[in-house]
Amino acid sequence: MSSPHHDALPEDILPALRERAHAYRDAVIAGLQHLIAIPSVNPVGASSPGPEARAALRWMLEHAAALGFRVQNLDDIVGFVEYGPADAPEVVAVLAHLDVVPAGEGWTHPPFAGAIADGMIWGRGVEDDKGPAVSSLYALKALSDLALPLRRRIRLILGTLEESGDWSDIRHYEAREGRPTMGFTPDAHFPVICGEKGILNVTFRAQEPAASNPTHRPGLHVAAWHAGSAPNIVPAFAWAALSLDARRFEPALVSLQRSARRFAQHHPESQLQVMRAELFRERYPTEELPAEAQVVVAARGQEAHGALPWDGHNALQDLANFLAACKVANNAVGRLVHFAARHLGVGWDGAGLGIAAEHDKLGPTTVNLGMARGDAQQASITLNVRLTPPHTVATLAEKLRRVGEEAGLQVEIDPASMNPLFVDEDDALVVGLKRAYQLVTGRPAACAYIGGTTYAKAFPRMVAFGPLMPDEPMLAHQVDERVSLDSLVRNTEIYALALYFLAGA
Ligand SMILES: [Zn+2]
Repeated sequence: MSSPHHDALPEDILPALRERAHAYRDAVIAGLQHLIAIPSVNPVGASSPGPEARAALRWMLEHAAALGFRVQNLDDIVGFVEYGPADAPEVVAVLAHLDVVPAGEGWTHPPFAGAIADGMIWGRGVEDDKGPAVSSLYALKALSDLALPLRRRIRLILGTLEESGDWSDIRHYEAREGRPTMGFTPDAHFPVICGEKGILNVTFRAQEPAASNPTHRPGLHVAAWHAGSAPNIVPAFAWAALSLDARRFEPALVSLQRSARRFAQHHPESQLQVMRAELFRERYPTEELPAEAQVVVAARGQEAHGALPWDGHNALQDLANFLAACKVANNAVGRLVHFAARHLGVGWDGAGLGIAAEHDKLGPTTVNLGMARGDAQQASITLNVRLTPPHTVATLAEKLRRVGEEAGLQVEIDPASMNPLFVDEDDALVVGLKRAYQLVTGRPAACAYIGGTTYAKAFPRMVAFGPLMPDEPMLAHQVDERVSLDSLVRNTEIYALALYFLAGA
């Protein structure tokens, strides 16, 4: 707590900022209502903002210009509001986004109307992330009203492609404007998220040469398998279809069922079932079994977020371990079965891949075997890795490539992978944010560390800061997203004081 400019804080700054934040209560609410009425939903996977997201960006910039700020719109993709000495080389950024996820059904109040009821404002984006964007804008207004001396510029950067997962808005900003010196994103919760694990998806593919006929290899023949809907979810269901030699069908089925019982003794949490294909088709009519399937091995587990594998139980890992123990033949699926059993086993720590790591703040690197697809000719598995230092995307990709290629697999690293984020607790950024939070709320401010990803990963030396108090329920992306009017004002106050600490003279 010893940065010199902090100690120069005049005693009356907080009351004055508080007075300003409260004076703008109605303006924040009206601004947010206007923004909520623009349904800025982008198509899934969009790499450029749709017309409504562009409209939301233009409206915010026009509104900020009317409040007296410098603004710039970078091609209707990303824009910023700027305050502070125009010639100051350093920039403190607030990074918010104006795109929202679809509303879904079942709202108490219409999702794009900004209704006010029970002391709350209701609507898609009031929490994520339009409310924080408007609170931040009026935090700048409070600072400018008081004409407090600043030594850094402050930029409220407004993105339009956060929810699509593409983040090309950020790359567009960086290409044109460079990186800010430091900053925060009001897109998670208070007090301060000082670290986030990185994220990397890797797909391993096995392919049979076109001329080969893998059906004649020794061992059980897996005709197809399927598990998971997304890499970052622990799969709760997985199946593999087997084609057995017709002359020895009955004894083979009995022997498989016996193996499944033996497997269950060694893996008491597993839930495997070996059944005839007709029965499986009856029970799971939406699954697409290949025509030659005679017997299906199905595994049940427990779904969980891929960053928290210990909260679930991976059905696909059970399936792979069982099939490997049955010594399935080396066709495309079979090679991945043996690869998964050998390199993932039953754990989630990546030890079998040679990538286990533990960071004192961020915790362990985790691996989720999220998806399996394919048949005898070509098959794949996709893993979601949450990496912690010392791993980077580059070093981890190199290791995974080597392990996969040694097993004769193709290895594809998702280009959208992101490095872990870690800002030291002694960094002036973290110290300033904690101090602002403490002074405004009177609550202790400890750093949090998460396995997930926030917009803070957009730039180095950036952290997530609000908008939710630790005890406020997270309603982002949910039906009836709403925030209290008081919290909008409180956030204006916290952000104004925080920005003064970070940018003040
Ligand atoms: Zn968000």
